[in-house]
Amino acid sequence: MKFNTKTIHGGQEHEVAYGAVMPPIYQTSTYAQTTPGGHKGYEYSRSQNPTRHALEKAFASIENGDYGLAFGSGLAAIDAVMKLLKPGDEVISTNDLYGGSYRLFTKIFEGFGIKFHFIGMQNAANIEKYINKNTKLIWVETPTNPMMTIIDIKATSVIAKKHNILLAVDNTFATPYLQQPLELGADLVMHSATKYLGGHSDVVMGALIVKDKSLADKLYFIQNASGAICGPQDSFLVLRGIKTLHIRMQRHCENGKAVALFLKKHPKIENVYWPGFEDHPNHDIAKSQMKDFGGMISFTTKGNNYKDAIKIVENLEIFTLAESLGGVESLSGHPASMTHASIPKEEREKTGVVDSLIRLSVGIEDIDDLITDLKQALK
Ligand code: PLP
Repeated sequence: MKFNTKTIHGGQEHEVAYGAVMPPIYQTSTYAQTTPGGHKGYEYSRSQNPTRHALEKAFASIENGDYGLAFGSGLAAIDAVMKLLKPGDEVISTNDLYGGSYRLFTKIFEGFGIKFHFIGMQNAANIEKYINKNTKLIWVETPTNPMMTIIDIKATSVIAKKHNILLAVDNTFATPYLQQPLELGADLVMHSATKYLGGHSDVVMGALIVKDKSLADKLYFIQNASGAICGPQDSFLVLRGIKTLHIRMQRHCENGKAVALFLKKHPKIENVYWPGFEDHPNHDIAKSQMKDFGGMISFTTKGNNYKDAIKIVENLEIFTLAESLGGVESLSGHPASMTHASIPKEEREKTGVVDSLIRLSVGIEDIDDLITDLKQALK
């Protein structure tokens, strides 16, 4: 099955009772048993729920994995991955990553005795310097949030395999439409399904997808034991969102390219971060591991003035100033004071998250309206 068919049919079966094409929302916490243990595979909705299962199979299908797991948020999914570790273990992570992931790693899991190395991974060989016998996980975000750095997944997976270390990729920005990390050698894919997979800014959810059964079993154990599951209504909404992922992504990419080109020529703009530019430092890797370049763009204004950046995001009318990304509607954000406020100023500035940086999630509206909006806000 090709990707554009998988988004609609992958892992799905028509419902048995009435032939419903979409799975019903099984809004139930528990399931009748004829005798203790006499059930139809569903005992209690923290452990199993048919609507969630339908979604989890769709997750596995679109990422070319064998097992999918759905969680109550992207961070709940990351939290489950970290619970594979034990005190003394070490993690090597991208240094430019979602602020909430950084907060979870440093404020929760460091306290449980796990050591994190936040490093630049554009040159995969740099990773090897930080590997020792305690290294158990490499955490990669690509493209990174918000600097749009691209990490070579294949090259990283060669290093991970050589040292028998698990490689996890946060594929939130790219989505499986653009990039399929399991095919490039990663062991685990994570999503904030809140973003492009859901696609309509109406759900908070996380996903994990793997190929290996023993890893899936461990993660399922954690999902059930820790209990950070998502509900059936949210599962239904994300399943519905996935069905249009391929056409939404196509438009996100087209609009993203037009916005990136517009910003690059604008006299008030200093830098535009978008992996589709030929002079983007990791453009060749982006071209080789991604089908297109997506709808996420960051930029800075000349003079790097905090007040200018705030004024621009306040003046935008169609681009709504809001946390999050990946919905049909265009959003703007100011990472230093919003998504990345939990990272200390000196740390975030090392990776380029300066005061004038603005991040855009380019939606699927008419491109003329988006450019007109940017023009008036920059004026
Ligand atoms: N990973 C990335 C790249 C994100 O952008 C986000 C949220 O913005 C997360 C993880 C966390 O996901 P959630 O907000 O669904 O918990």
